[in-house]
Amino acid sequence: MKLVFLGPPGAGKGTLASLAKDAFGVVHISTGDIFRANIKNGTPLGLKVKAILDSGGLVSDETTIEIVKDRLMQADCKAGYLLDGFPRTVVQAEALATFEKLDSVVNFVLDENVIVSRLSGRRVCKACGTGFHLTAMPPQKPGTCDKCGGELIQRKDDEASSIQERLRVYAAQTEPLIHWYRTKGLLKDIDASPQPTEVLKELKKVLG
Ligand code: AMP
Repeated sequence: MKLVFLGPPGAGKGTLASLAKDAFGVVHISTGDIFRANIKNGTPLGLKVKAILDSGGLVSDETTIEIVKDRLMQADCKAGYLLDGFPRTVVQAEALATFEKLDSVVNFVLDENVIVSRLSGRRVCKACGTGFHLTAMPPQKPGTCDKCGGELIQRKDDEASSIQERLRVYAAQTEPLIHWYRTKGLLKDIDASPQPTEVLKELKKVLG
């Protein structure tokens, strides 16, 4: 199964992708994770994109498309994949359509107030990347990862000013993809407000 997860930042695409990849037996590819890993490892790509990610802007279409194209050519994608955070512009969607045929695009729908509260309360483990939320999924010991004991931090792009920029960029650049994929008959809307396990059940129904 070849899937795209579409939706605003904070809609829970990443969390759902982690659950769905096992349920559907597909590879989870998150362009955000790829960029963050490069930043963490100090690669030339990481150095190039760090300021862009911190501010909440978008990496260039050219760079992003090349990365995804290379990744999709790897053997583990043959059995299917789930793209989380790509495409984010019509240019990226058009490029993807030239080299891949998708089965479905899932559109995670969530109210803007809920998005802001989800993003601003989000914390991640600096060491292992596990995600928490100050109120919805708090760690057992404040500031400490339940899994590895690492320090929990707030992503720079989850700070208030970056959240606003990410929402602005989403509305201007990514939201048009909803219409784009709907006209192609690929879009499936899903309510992203329930708990992740509930959303997963709905996802299984919607995708058959
Ligand atoms: P995410 O984890 O999906 O919220 O992505 C974090 C950041 O990575 C975004 O705010 C962008 O700066 C960058 N990014 C991720 N995916 C893309 C993409 N498809 N196109 C451009 N920039 C991206």
